Amino acid sequence: MGSTQKTIQREVECAGVGMFRGGATKLRFKPAPLNSGIHFVRVDLPNRPLVPAHVHALSSNYKRIFLKNKEAEVESVEHLMAALAGLGIDNIEIEINGQEIPAGDGSAKLFVEILKKAGIAELGGKKKTFTVKSPIVVSSGSASVMAMPCEKGLLLSYTLDFNGSFIRQQTYDIEFTEENFCKEIAPARTFGLSTYVEEFKKLGLGKGVTDDNSIIVHEDGKLTKPISMKPAELRFPNEFVRHKILDLIGDLYLANVFIQGRIVANRSGHSLNVQLAEKIVGAA
Ligand SMILES: [Zn+2]
Repeated sequence: MGSTQKTIQREVECAGVGMFRGGATKLRFKPAPLNSGIHFVRVDLPNRPLVPAHVHALSSNYKRIFLKNKEAEVESVEHLMAALAGLGIDNIEIEINGQEIPAGDGSAKLFVEILKKAGIAELGGKKKTFTVKSPIVVSSGSASVMAMPCEKGLLLSYTLDFNGSFIRQQTYDIEFTEENFCKEIAPARTFGLSTYVEEFKKLGLGKGVTDDNSIIVHEDGKLTKPISMKPAELRFPNEFVRHKILDLIGDLYLANVFIQGRIVANRSGHSLNVQLAEKIVGAA
């Protein structure tokens, strides 16, 4: 990741439909100065309010988490946050003309490509890091995520387990480097269990789900596209656990620091991941 702060070299744009609300939005990425951090600007609202991409701005409802500053909200930020972490970007302004980040193909691929196209610029100045000195654990029922000291760098481990149905248990370990992130994690797509899909529809969410941005896992283990219900093919045999690591990286980056330590997650989701990010901010 290097040890100095980075932004992007030039402005770039991308557009698309958000997965949960189905609204089309456009993102404009702009270089930002040293120590300014990562924030969104709701250019469609009066006075263009800022929404910091930070755990302090987190809010939640219907089991979903989002960023909020007064009336301005930005949601589905995790894959974009993961791309920023993966490319080591510390400072950036992201204009958005709506509420939800575009889904792309359900992975972080779109964001990695567009940010690489913008080019990475070194700003100098020390990167904000957090070195884990003693274990930090958050848990809920049988799910947990913990940070532990580690000699060097950031190691991530995730175990996915749906108690025998849907998908067999998968564990994946990876050292967090830009190359590993871009190759092994960024292309892993969103998936949903068939039972959750029904629940989401009842809440009026999932309007932007298409055959090209997510995979449905059925109780018998079959994988299909969500709309046509045609068989779905995976990019990696363990694409699902890789996606869980993608989400974990994006959620933890809401602490706005590069973690030096070992993260071990077991069945954790967004709400638990961000609780660890909050504890890291509290301990920093
Ligand atoms: Zn995700």
